[in-house]
Amino acid sequence: MAPSPRLVPLLLPWVALWAQREQSRALQLGHPLSPEAQKDASLVGVSQPQRIRVLVVPQIQIPRSAFLRQLGERWGYTSQTTTGLSLGYGIHLRADCSHDRELLIHECVHTAQFERLGSLREFLRIYLTDCLVHGYFTSPMEQEARTTAAARVQEIRTDNDAADAC
Ligand SMILES: [Zn+2]
Repeated sequence: MAPSPRLVPLLLPWVALWAQREQSRALQLGHPLSPEAQKDASLVGVSQPQRIRVLVVPQIQIPRSAFLRQLGERWGYTSQTTTGLSLGYGIHLRADCSHDRELLIHECVHTAQFERLGSLREFLRIYLTDCLVHGYFTSPMEQEARTTAAARVQEIRTDNDAADAC
């Protein structure tokens, strides 16, 4: 049986604590976006892209709690399969994918969602509820991130083709 969205209020304090810690780690140790990446971020809706810090890590950390790990595995969200993680202005990218522009844009869309919702806690509340109701892959927030990033990458390709034609 799929876990109920009613679990969210119970999970939220733990997830929020973990997320705050992971966000702080990225803010302290990460690097700012390049001017090009700042432009991408602002085009996908981030209002303060200069605040984003990207931390490149060998593996994305997921919460240590066994229950949260089980939930993550159910969604296909494990430290083995996950390539990026956006927590507020702190973005974690797995080292072997750290030059993937579409992935970084995808994570920036999550940052834009966080800005719209006003706090990391509210972002996590809606995100977790979405995932429990719709499943990770089909959750509206994930879909928005995927389609927005794909559209931006398409735009970049079209611009490059036009520049090549000149
Ligand atoms: Zn995502």
